[in-house]
Amino acid sequence: MDLQKRGFATKAVHAGQHPDKETGALVQPMYLTSTFVFTPEKADRYFSGDKAGIFTYGRSRNPTQNIFQEKVAALEGADSALATASGMAAITNAIMSFVHSGDHIISCKTVYGGTYALFTKIFKEFNIEVTFVPKLSVEELNKAVKPNTKLVYMESILNPTLEVTNVPEVVAWAKAKGIKTMVDNTFTTPYLFRPLELGVDVVVHSTTKYLNGHGDHVGGIIVGDAEFIESVRSGVYQEFGPVPSPFAMWLGIRGVKTLHLRMKAHCENAMVFAKWLETNKHVEKVIYPGLESHPQHELAKKLFSNGFGGMVSFIIRGGVEEVRSLTDHLNMAYYAVSLGDLDTLVEHPATMTHGKIAPEERLEMGIPDGLIRVSVGIEDVNDIIADFDQALNYIK
Ligand SMILES: *Cc1c(COP(=O)(O)O)cnc(C)c1O
Repeated sequence: MDLQKRGFATKAVHAGQHPDKETGALVQPMYLTSTFVFTPEKADRYFSGDKAGIFTYGRSRNPTQNIFQEKVAALEGADSALATASGMAAITNAIMSFVHSGDHIISCKTVYGGTYALFTKIFKEFNIEVTFVPKLSVEELNKAVKPNTKLVYMESILNPTLEVTNVPEVVAWAKAKGIKTMVDNTFTTPYLFRPLELGVDVVVHSTTKYLNGHGDHVGGIIVGDAEFIESVRSGVYQEFGPVPSPFAMWLGIRGVKTLHLRMKAHCENAMVFAKWLETNKHVEKVIYPGLESHPQHELAKKLFSNGFGGMVSFIIRGGVEEVRSLTDHLNMAYYAVSLGDLDTLVEHPATMTHGKIAPEERLEMGIPDGLIRVSVGIEDVNDIIADFDQALNYIK
């Protein structure tokens, strides 16, 4: 079967899957091993430099990891992928494989908290400079670019403001200048958005979120062309050693097989929930790329297929106290960081993930105290709405 020609759901189920030759087990066993036994012939081949298809040591390759990588690569429309122990490991290894001391990165104005700390603290120590631009437009890119710019770093949808990045505009600009582009596709997943098809060089994910989707795995993945992935694997990956456990990979394989079903449910629930929020008197503003009121709704329609994702942010009338009234009274949705789980999760950026940022700066980033971010789960949407409805009623 030529999987390339098949649909997304078929790829999600079948890519990377080869029933066990010896036993016929459809779900392949998990290879919990750190080392692999050589035959003399294999050892000769391997140590003379012909490493194709030979497993040696768990930090380099593991068969369970290979299946997960093949699956995600197929869904992103890529040649190759490399899994890591976390999303942050994917981002760090992907960037540090070609950005060196003395280089410069242009980034979208807000990034995931861990990425922000990497860019502003760790990279600073490594003499890698990062410029955050207010908007990833040609005008702003032209202002920010330097002779040593190596990378434009993007998130498909910004967190928690849910702005949509104009990826094609950035790619056209960067290609003309020979600058690499990278997209963190965690919020959108390949079910909605496939940046590599638009000419983006590298995609990274926190597979902790939607790709695994069940809240029981921490992981990341780097996706790109085979040459780039091999350069990461034989370079920083080999020595930084951010290898995931086979068990995390095994869970990831099972998770990705239902990505299309879960994302469909997340998107449908998020749309209904967002529309309902717009009618609630305690809610000042709802931010969801699927709503016509969203400033980049047209762009989102152009870029995304199958829906607008499962993340909804909203601003309630009031501040921290009113937010507390709501979060203290939720009966079903959980008050927690992370996202992309089956369960609905509620996060308050001003006191949680973005609490260390000065209030004025936070406001400038579009994160007032009343902003709440919801990772809409796959429960019955009426139950999600009922839970928020009764909790919002506690606001005076
Ligand atoms: C969670 C997340 C990360 C970091 O991933 P970990 O698996 O927690 O290391 C990076 N980017 C985005 C957009 C995320 O949501």
